[in-house]
Amino acid sequence: MIWQHNPPQANEFVDKVMLITGAGRGIGRSLALELAKLGARVILCGRTQKHLESLDDEIARLGLAEPLLLPLDLKTLDSQQAEQIAEAIGAQFGRLDALVHNASELGPLTSLANYPLATYDQIMQVNVRASLILSQKLLPLLAAANSGRLLFTSSSVGRQGRAFWGGYSLSKFATEGMMQIFADELENTSSIKVMAINPGATRTDMRARAYPSEDPHRLATPEQILPCYLYALSQAGQSWHGQSIDAQPPLEHSLKRQ
Ligand code: NDP
Repeated sequence: MIWQHNPPQANEFVDKVMLITGAGRGIGRSLALELAKLGARVILCGRTQKHLESLDDEIARLGLAEPLLLPLDLKTLDSQQAEQIAEAIGAQFGRLDALVHNASELGPLTSLANYPLATYDQIMQVNVRASLILSQKLLPLLAAANSGRLLFTSSSVGRQGRAFWGGYSLSKFATEGMMQIFADELENTSSIKVMAINPGATRTDMRARAYPSEDPHRLATPEQILPCYLYALSQAGQSWHGQSIDAQPPLEHSLKRQ
């Protein structure tokens, strides 16, 4: 895989302003911490304040650049709130080098025939609509950066439908589509690069909820899949514009995987 032989250049992320949603736990937390270690000014967006504060403490303990904490429940995010976020980031930094849409909710794993519609609305709001709203409001700041990145998080169930993955699967199909449309629309009008990453089976709370009987030690840790993310966010990764990339090969598993 190309990123294994192409780690980021020294100082490449120093002072880059990067917003990661779902930064309080799982893959988002690992990515935010790694970017902070590489010198980025990270904006930590998440629902649960204490998760963000715990990461903030860790970053302070390591003596890294102070992050901006952005407690935000994507379930209720609207355009006005996103506009205020854009104004705050614009006032402090004047640009945004990367917007990483990482936060998602899994919802119930049940048949579409029985899928509760109120839950469907919530999953689509958090996993899709909130990403669209944030992207809309933050595009001008991404355009103000040199080769800004708009990075979405996909899943294998966003490329091939699978029984019982319900609203989550639908939301990931929509995410793939949104990435492709933004990539096409921005292709000739902006320096922004748009892409998606499918993390693959990764040892997080979400994975444990989806596969409660699975041995987590068989899974890649969030830290192990980070090189793919760092490549996507690096100068070299701009060639991925419009692509959806797998961060790891499929897991050998008797069950069908997320
Ligand atoms: P986790 O469930 O471990 O973490 C999800 C993060 O999203 C948490 O920080 C959580 O915040 C945040 N979040 C959830 N709902 C909201 C909300 N309403 N508002 C704001 N933040 C919210 O997930 P993973 O780290 O496993 O997943 C990260 C991404 O990777 C997701 O998009 C997921 O779909 C995708 N993915 C993961 C795979 C895996 O195997 N782990 C496989 C394929 C895709 P809080 O801390 O407040 O709860």
